[in-house]
Amino acid sequence: MTETNTADAENLTAAVAELDRAVGRFLSPRMAEGRPEPSLWAEVCRRRLEPPPSSGNRAVHRFSGSPVCLSSLQIHSEVVGAVRQLATDRDDDPAVLLDSLTRTSAWRPQDTSTVLDWCEAVTDWCRRALAIVEPERRMEVRARCPACETRTVYRHKDGEDIRVPALSVSVSGADCIACGAHWSPAQFGLLIAVLEGE
Ligand SMILES: [Zn+2]
Repeated sequence: MTETNTADAENLTAAVAELDRAVGRFLSPRMAEGRPEPSLWAEVCRRRLEPPPSSGNRAVHRFSGSPVCLSSLQIHSEVVGAVRQLATDRDDDPAVLLDSLTRTSAWRPQDTSTVLDWCEAVTDWCRRALAIVEPERRMEVRARCPACETRTVYRHKDGEDIRVPALSVSVSGADCIACGAHWSPAQFGLLIAVLEGE
């Protein structure tokens, strides 16, 4: 193996490890207050089918999905569209296909930038799904995540990549979109102490 090949292989291994963490945050059950809760992907799948809030008005026969339903539908169709290129069978489960990308053997050494593109896409799905699952007011925190030390992540918006803070807080806790760390409100004091010590 030449030096270039070795470097390519190392870059690929690191990129696949990052993708594995992002896919894990999207597909694995979330821990909240020590209890497992459905994964972000499961929440997206469920909520895209949610009927709009029931109303007695006459427009109810028209499709008038709630914002949650529409955002979920959008994420769902992006995921399905993205994994379709990998499918060998039309009925393959998108989650299984996504998970299949987290094995180094699925890639060639020269595929590193493609793997990193997948990382960005999955991280963006995580962030948007989290906003659906926890729709209450969420504030961004401009500080380094105490767990992974990430300060900002890229967010794809209107065809542009913009940087946004990795940490955000809401009444249900603080979350890092980069590593998936979660702090319950009871841990805020600890978190603030860490952030102040930066
Ligand atoms: Zn983090």
